Amino acid sequence: MSSAQPITLHPARPAQPQAGSDVTPAIPGHRVELQLLTTLKCNLKCTYCSLGVGEVLGSQTHVDYSLDQLENFVATHLGGYETYVTFYGGEPTLNTQYMQEVIARFPNFRYQLQTNGTLLDGLPDALLARMSNYLISIDGGETTTDGYRGRGIYRQVMKNLATVRPKIAGSATARVTWSHPEISFEELDHLTEIFDYLYFQFVADRGAYPAEGMAKRRAILAQMIDKFFRHTDRLYPIIPIMGMVRNKVMPSRAQELYQGKSQCRASTHILNVMPDGRIFPCPDLLYLPEMQQGSVVDNWLRASPLQADPAMPCSSCEAFAFCRGNCMKNLYLAYVKKDEDYRREVVEPICELVRFMGEEIDRHNPQEWFARASLPVRKQITDCEVYEYVEIMP
Ligand code: SF4
Ligand code: SF4
Repeated sequence: MSSAQPITLHPARPAQPQAGSDVTPAIPGHRVELQLLTTLKCNLKCTYCSLGVGEVLGSQTHVDYSLDQLENFVATHLGGYETYVTFYGGEPTLNTQYMQEVIARFPNFRYQLQTNGTLLDGLPDALLARMSNYLISIDGGETTTDGYRGRGIYRQVMKNLATVRPKIAGSATARVTWSHPEISFEELDHLTEIFDYLYFQFVADRGAYPAEGMAKRRAILAQMIDKFFRHTDRLYPIIPIMGMVRNKVMPSRAQELYQGKSQCRASTHILNVMPDGRIFPCPDLLYLPEMQQGSVVDNWLRASPLQADPAMPCSSCEAFAFCRGNCMKNLYLAYVKKDEDYRREVVEPICELVRFMGEEIDRHNPQEWFARASLPVRKQITDCEVYEYVEIMP
């Protein structure tokens, strides 16, 4: 069954629920992620950067709201929620002071850093020790990464990770945008040996999914999934596969943290706070005024406007039970904004790959594998903390 609801798109400031009222809260559930964009500047120029759309990248270079305003916002709207923070950008480590100030102000929050990794070695030890997870952007092996990010970046990131490893208690997750069809199984597989987890997402670029490129991606996905099911006593730590397997063996987990909506949290409980204090549900749609969900400066918050819509095809899709609408931004642009080229060249190929992954996983009988898996592996499949920090689906 679909959970599709009509989308509401009016950025006007809504009335806030009063204490004791039965008005639906802006954030459903009990958990909220504050994704604080410390700056929109970046020290790299990755060719596919999604902040390049709408000229968001570089447009705000320092945080304009005060910590008192942030605290006031949290007290007004997020009281009683388990709150965790992801520092995001631009490149968040360009504003280390702000990160330190936030941590000092909210010492009981959980923290994650999403970074390109190039400045990690310069962070103070106390800050490094505080992160529950590092999401480190990398594109694959050295040639691929340097091709997108600049010469020497792969080695620099690897060196930095090795330097900070003894100082960090949290996990390190490779965050890969799977950009071009020539990226090999071996280079992705190698990342699982260096990082604790690998999370990948299919690039949202037109022209990235020609027929032969789709065939290559399918072959690599099949290889990954085959390797995933080879062992029951050790985990092959690739988040989208882990998440899909979880959703198949324990369907309730596919719903409970996201109220049955998209697992990327954009429809429920992630608040992207721009340096100027405006709040949006998806970091890739900061350029659309109708997507504004709130403001730290003006202290208001409404439910995410980025919701499933009857125009989206998910309710009749065989993958819905484990996919749950993958990327709401993609679906919104393709089916609500009706960008036909984007639908044909980006969204439909990605959906095809998601369905393919589901079929490949089914071929390996995930229920039977889960029944034989060791307790630590089962625990990781059901409860891996990194699920809370990434979109889960590719
Ligand atoms: S594969 Fe595509 S159409 Fe199917 S549920 Fe996922 S996002 Fe929706
Ligand atoms: S997966 Fe979610 S957060 Fe990521 S781009 Fe899509 S809608 Fe935005």
